[in-house]
Amino acid sequence: MLRLGLTGGIGSGKSTVARELQSMGAALIDADDISRRCTMVKGLAMPAITHQFGAHFVTPEGAMDRNRMREHVFAHPEARQTLEAIIHPLVQQEIRRQSELVCSPCLVFDIPLLVESPHWRRQLDRILVVDCAEDTQIRRVQARNGWDRATVEAIIRQQSPREHRLAAADWVLWNDHTDLQVLRHEVQLMASRLGL
Ligand code: ADP
Repeated sequence: MLRLGLTGGIGSGKSTVARELQSMGAALIDADDISRRCTMVKGLAMPAITHQFGAHFVTPEGAMDRNRMREHVFAHPEARQTLEAIIHPLVQQEIRRQSELVCSPCLVFDIPLLVESPHWRRQLDRILVVDCAEDTQIRRVQARNGWDRATVEAIIRQQSPREHRLAAADWVLWNDHTDLQVLRHEVQLMASRLGL
């Protein structure tokens, strides 16, 4: 089984590529999804988040208040570290658990911080980076999330620089098209390299 790390900046099309690979038979482990589940109602991270940050970061239903937390960690980098120290070990544990259950020629790890994490890179056979121009990223995220340009730019600045991702890549999938059909075709070409 090939263990493929998939990464890319926000709006690059990483999730779309992940879904396409999944539809072609790859197994997918989605770290963002696992992380979100940790902070939902009854999520594994909720007791520690409530303890560290206080009840005003928790919705009446018992999930993390994502908007409030996003603003808080933007303004306080040390709070981001605290939050990550709670969530990351839980995510790692769940990723290990899921990957032991998989049976497929290719296991795709969709992990946003892949490039920065020696822990994950050691466990992967190949890294595929989805890439596009920064203006394209901004345009797509504005359309998808309804955020203003400055917010998207701030998130891009917080992510690892594009050059770091590209330096770590075994393969780069250039996705600057405006047509999902073209992307699908590119992913199909990639799938044959992955034994799918
Ligand atoms: P990421 O996971 O990298 O943040 P997504 O896969 O969610 O990005 O893509 C961001 C948005 O851009 C989505 O709405 C997606 O449908 C759109 N998109 C991605 N690639 C293309 C493309 N080649 N053509 C048209 N729209 C695209």
